[in-house]
Order: sequence, then structure tokens, then C-alpha cells
Amino acid sequence: MEKKSPDLSEIKELEFVNDEEPPSLSPPVSYPLTIKHEKKQRPSALSKETPPASSRSLKFLKTYYPAATESDWRDWRWQIRNSITSLQQLQKILSLADHELFRGVGNKDALPLRITPYYASLIESSGEDNAIRKCVIPVIDEYIVKNGEASDPLCEGGHSPVPNIVHRYPDRALFLVTGFCSTYCRYCTRSHMVAKDKCHFGVRNLEEAFRYLESHTEIRDVLLSGGDPLTMKDEDISYILARLKKIRHIEFVRIGTKVPVVLPQRITQKLCNILKKYHPLWLSIHFTHPDEISPEVSEACARLADAGIPLGSQTVLLKGINDQPSVMKALMHALLRIRVRPYYIYQCDPILGSEHFRTPVETGLGIIESLRGHTTGYAVPTYVIDAPGGGGKIPLLPEYYLGRDGKDVLLRNFEGKVFRYPDQSE
Ligand code: SF4
Repeated sequence: MEKKSPDLSEIKELEFVNDEEPPSLSPPVSYPLTIKHEKKQRPSALSKETPPASSRSLKFLKTYYPAATESDWRDWRWQIRNSITSLQQLQKILSLADHELFRGVGNKDALPLRITPYYASLIESSGEDNAIRKCVIPVIDEYIVKNGEASDPLCEGGHSPVPNIVHRYPDRALFLVTGFCSTYCRYCTRSHMVAKDKCHFGVRNLEEAFRYLESHTEIRDVLLSGGDPLTMKDEDISYILARLKKIRHIEFVRIGTKVPVVLPQRITQKLCNILKKYHPLWLSIHFTHPDEISPEVSEACARLADAGIPLGSQTVLLKGINDQPSVMKALMHALLRIRVRPYYIYQCDPILGSEHFRTPVETGLGIIESLRGHTTGYAVPTYVIDAPGGGGKIPLLPEYYLGRDGKDVLLRNFEGKVFRYPDQSE
């Protein structure tokens, strides 16, 4: 049956209440310190400014947003304004199963629905087993809370000396600069704080955090996260990076983001020009599945890499989504092709209503076993569990060290063969 062409932007009803304006769309603010900004880009420069749209994207745009133009599609603000936030909108692009239509109670942290049109184009007409679909569409299991699950399993609140700062490791700090994301992942570790009423903190409200960072000279590394820092306005990102640059003991800054994957349009030339002014700057990008590596995502990562920013990936291990060794290997290979170095595979944190996402630890160990020695070393990330209660990241490795025989060390290689290393040195 031929599909009609519903204009998704005309469907206004929100089933999931999240009507606060994204920070990127809010009016300009005055900043506590004066920092020189880049000149404003003229709209006519849009075609060179943003990553091009693929043929799949253009087809999706024509079908579901017939009144919009290609320039609209390539404008990240348009993507945020026109994101899918209701089941009615979602049902225009795919048929939902009963367990996906459910909206329940019992999990106070359940995230609202939010998917950028771009990311939705990856799941158009997909079946309920589609990996990307399972990451972003709420299901009934989210409302079933099991023993051992917690709202803030990593106890970040307990390691937060001032608002917006988590200081768990001695020499580095996590700086939560926004509670907004352009697309919400159903397994989000910070579902207790993202997408809440006041998810756009505003840079003026980060002063206490800046002062903490300024006064703690032991902090040499700051990770900007949230929420997703790259959903903020250029001016805000520039301001935060400039403020951090002024703190002499901070040696470098990292940004944790999923924007290049769910909103590649955000990676504009102007943003890259801002970011590259603040080297050394590192980016950890949240990837989940090889199907995410589209022409737009490749272009976004190429721009960031060309701006001299080292790119690493972070991937949450998820049941029925990326827990097959072949899927994870395909993802790691695809990442290297787009100049992203696989960095971490995380065991899924036990947030409320997460059991349907969590795999046994042996699954993660099996994936590492299937990679180590069987592919390029660069394609092998570190598999970690972030210890519940705030113990930090603990790496897990299959058993390669078998013990000692006298002074010799017995080692197992990737083929299961045992070797001796003469560990004679005193
Ligand atoms: S992008 Fe990160 S912070 Fe945002 S919902 Fe996904 S996991 Fe959470």
C-alpha cells in the first residue's frame, strides 16, 4: 500500500512532555566574563557550512517533511525543532508493536521520547528487531524495575562537591554542562538527570562549577558531558572552552557526545573552527551499531579529525543490539575507517528499568576474545564495568595470564596456545 506523505512537523501533540526549548534555540545570554567570539556566519553559506545530505536522507525528507527544503534538513536547529517527540509522529514512519506503544509508571527516570529526523531516517519502516530502533523507542520493560537497579548507580551525586561537577578521580573532573540531548538513548546512565524540567542549565549557572575547577589545582583533565554538550549554541561552547583554557592547571579538555551520530548536521565548519582553537581537545563519541555509520556521520567525523581533534568511541554493550561478536567487530572496523579509535565498551549500567538491555559479563569478555589477535590492535577497545557505588571504571580481560611455573610466566595466546615467557630478571 502506498504511503501518504504526512508532514511530521504539523503533528503537534506531545505524548512525552519535554516542552522546554533546547538551549540552541534560546535567546542570546550575556556572559559573566567577556570572551571574543567568532563572527556570525551568513545563512547563504549553509551549503558549504554543513555536511551534505545523503540520498536516503533526501528521500526521507521528501516523504515526511514535504514542506521542508534540503537546507532545512542540513540545519541542525531545524533537526532539533522537528524532532520526533510523540508516538503519533513515530507511527507515521513505522508500525509500532504493542510493547512499544506502552507508556507506564513505576520508573521516575523514564526518559521522554526524542529522535532527530535524521536518526529517525535510519529506522524508517524497520521491524521491531532493528538495533537502532531498540535504542531510542521506549518499551514496556523500561517500567519494570529489578533488584540491584538504581537511579544513579555510579553514585555521581555522592561525588558532586558543587552542582554540575562530579569529582571521582583525583586528577580529573566531569563537568555536566547541559541536561539536553537531541536524541534520548533508552539505556542512558544519566537518565536520572537528563531531560528533566531544567535540563538547560544556562552558562550563567555554571559559575560555581568554574570556580571549583579554578580552585582545585589537582584537576588536570576536564570531561564535558551532560546531556550532550554539542547541542549547545556555538557561543556557549566557545565560552565554556575559553573559560577552561584560562585555568592554567587544566592540561586538556575532553567532550563526550553522541551528536556526530544522531545529529551530524551539527558538525558545521564554524563549530570545527571553534573547537580547534582550544587544543588539546579530545572527543569521545558514543556509537552503538555499524548501521549508524552513514555518509553524513563519516563526513562529520572527517571534519572533526581534519580539525585535529583525536576521536575515540564509547559503546554500551546492549542485549540484542550489539552483543554479537560479528556486529561489534563490524562496528570497530567501520570506526577505524572513519578515523575514530575504538576506546571503551561499557557494560550497561544498572539504571532503573534496564534489565532488558543488560548482557552477562561473559558476553563482553567473549567479544574481546573475538577481537584481540583476530583483528588490528587499534580495533580492540577496553571492556569496562563502571563499578556501582562510584568505584570507577574497572577493566575486564579474558584470561591471558595463566600464572607462573617457577620463574617462567605462562601465557595463552588468541588461538588458545600456551607459551612460556622467561621472566628471569630480578
Ligand atoms: S546521548 Fe548520552 S547523555 Fe544523551 S541520552 Fe544518550 S547516553 Fe544519555
